Amino acid sequence: MEFKIKFCGAARTVTGSCYHVSIPGFRFLVDCGMFQGTKTIRELNYGDFPFDAKAVDAVFLTHAHIDHTGLLPKLLKRGFTGPIFATEATRDLLTYMLPDSGHIQEFEVKRINQRNRRRDLPPIFPIYTKEDGVRAAEGIRYVPMEDWFDAGPGVRVRYWNAGHILGSASVEFELGTGANGGERKRILFSGDIGPDQKTLQSNPQGPKNLDYLVVESTYGDRDRSDLSPEARRGALKAEIDAAVTSGGNILIPAFAVERTQELLFDLGTLMDNRQIPDIQIYLDSPLAIRATEVFEKHSGHMEGVNGVAKPFRHPSIRFIQTVEESMALETVRSGAVIMSASGMCDAGRIRHHLLNNLSNPKATVLFVGYQAPGTLGSLILDGAKKVRIHGQEVSVKARIRSVDFYSAHADREQLVDWIRERFPITGGIFLSHGEQSVIEALRSRLIKAKMDANLVFVPQLDEVFDLSVDGAPKRHLDNPRLDPASVSETATSDWHNDYAALLLELANDLRTLPDVETRRRLLVDLRRTLKGKERAA
Ligand SMILES: [Zn+2]
Repeated sequence: MEFKIKFCGAARTVTGSCYHVSIPGFRFLVDCGMFQGTKTIRELNYGDFPFDAKAVDAVFLTHAHIDHTGLLPKLLKRGFTGPIFATEATRDLLTYMLPDSGHIQEFEVKRINQRNRRRDLPPIFPIYTKEDGVRAAEGIRYVPMEDWFDAGPGVRVRYWNAGHILGSASVEFELGTGANGGERKRILFSGDIGPDQKTLQSNPQGPKNLDYLVVESTYGDRDRSDLSPEARRGALKAEIDAAVTSGGNILIPAFAVERTQELLFDLGTLMDNRQIPDIQIYLDSPLAIRATEVFEKHSGHMEGVNGVAKPFRHPSIRFIQTVEESMALETVRSGAVIMSASGMCDAGRIRHHLLNNLSNPKATVLFVGYQAPGTLGSLILDGAKKVRIHGQEVSVKARIRSVDFYSAHADREQLVDWIRERFPITGGIFLSHGEQSVIEALRSRLIKAKMDANLVFVPQLDEVFDLSVDGAPKRHLDNPRLDPASVSETATSDWHNDYAALLLELANDLRTLPDVETRRRLLVDLRRTLKGKERAA
């Protein structure tokens, strides 16, 4: 039986999850995610898909995060007409998340085009619009957890709770009809796997006895000491106490889904128990508010909220809806918690709050989630002294704090345990969704745990594995969109980052020079050097 899988994203990087699987008479995608991070990586969002969208028969989504679903509207624009499968909660979340993603792109493109007009550059177009996002979300059908269903000829599918965020799942496929003595193959896509002991989601599950496993590796090199929900609240209390003592506002760049609701619940519980003083908390993200409503719809299944009637709506929490209300928060100079998206600070209202608070040494920025390399969040976290936001240069003087006890991802040992629970796996394990060095660390750990080294693969972007041959899969690169050697490097930092850093340094250097004449001389020297380089090239 023909059986091929192409890794169209999240190969030696963390974002852009998308796997293209083909068997006789049926082609499908698992996830259709957007690339995030450096400009070079994000440019992949604008180009063609590395497959024919019209020839794809179905899409199976693991969970609602945009790096797993964000190119779905583009897939429809490029002619995909088949069904899209997801859990009910994933579908509910995407009803807001996909239009929001379209809206962000329209907004960003408008801003860039204003600049391009001034510079006499041609206009650019959004990958898709809010309308396209609405249309894609409307087309999603929902599937049950842990029940097999038929999705096409010789394609049986079963969803398993992955414990990562609301609605998240691993997706198991049984492929082939088995007719006339034909074979059947079983493959499981992990999606993102949650840690044990999350407040709002139960521990990840999955089947045993597979031919192949495609598994995420985000934290494949890291061992955390996972805290119980009570201990986690204790640690949060310590952060809030210190930030309140410092005297400024507390900004929390919040991921709209799951992290926001965990924090709302924990902050509310801490105030209810008088463990922290009553502080004003603003949730300033329309998307996070919509997501919270979806959580409320599904909160009957959340053991961790212990039957609390309104787990995310403590009286001190105010939901900020309009842009005017959001702008008005500028006048709040101290003592408030402002939770705002996006979680990596690369879009949304948080940028405006950072602009207002970053240069205040009394303010605190509390990171509560993963910051992809190249994002504004990662620059701040890595200790940048100055950053640019909306074209303005801002000094970073605020207290920068980061906590990892709200992770939505399993750590290394939890991943290894989860993988072992799937044994036996006879054909191969593909490690995806991780930075190169992290994936290598997880691979070594699996080999130490007695996995056959010949069966643990680290796919590259646009690499195809032919699983229909006997023995080891045959692999080849199929028109790779990026130079394979440079993928993991450009995912971390590309020339755009170097350029931005150079501009900041230059501005600083110029300021430290004693007088106008010396500054002008430096600029003349710089020009001369550049001209020389041009001629040499
Ligand atoms: Zn995720």
